[in-house]
Amino acid sequence: MAANCIFCKIIKGDIPSMKLFESEKTLAFLDINPLSYGHALIIPKHHGAKLHEIPPEHLTELLPVASRIASALGCENYNILQNNGRLAHQEVDHVHFHVIPKPNETEGLGIGWPQQ
Ligand code: C5P
Repeated sequence: MAANCIFCKIIKGDIPSMKLFESEKTLAFLDINPLSYGHALIIPKHHGAKLHEIPPEHLTELLPVASRIASALGCENYNILQNNGRLAHQEVDHVHFHVIPKPNETEGLGIGWPQQ
């Protein structure tokens, strides 16, 4: 845990989040500023800013959880995104994978997509 890390505070429950999945090593929750309906973040509970700083045993659940979330969303088109470093547009210095659904008019979450 890192004292000033916003995602560590979410893991500890000091900052609320909309949790989608939690295990001993992994947490998934909805992005607070979603790029689309269902935009989710999956993080290791082990703190580290960049992917190569995380011990491999803390990475094993991340893609399987991303896959489960994508499947649960029922969205056939989506991006899995993971940024490392400011030049790569990383804003939060705690490793996270984005699941970003790309909706169209014929697929979605079963709750209807907002009209643009
Ligand atoms: O990959 P990057 O670091 O740019 O993405 C950080 C993500 O964390 C953003 O999509 C932002 O909306 C999200 N975030 C969040 N809850 C916070 C702070 C940031 O979901 N409290």
